[in-house]
Amino acid sequence: MNLDRFSQSYETPVIETVDDINNCGCGKQAEWLVYEDKQPHCSECFREATECGEMVEVQYLCA
Ligand SMILES: [Zn+2]
Repeated sequence: MNLDRFSQSYETPVIETVDDINNCGCGKQAEWLVYEDKQPHCSECFREATECGEMVEVQYLCA
């Protein structure tokens, strides 16, 4: 039995924990990631954040 073959078949899965990123503070699914705060925001909270403060660099989360 060739164990080396099996050992090579193992690949370290690179899975980042993105549960917190996918959820807004209000509990809804986050669609926007605000880099300044590094906090996820849903569409509603994101609009409020941008209206209240300066426009910061954001990333749209394609879920
Ligand atoms: Zn929200």
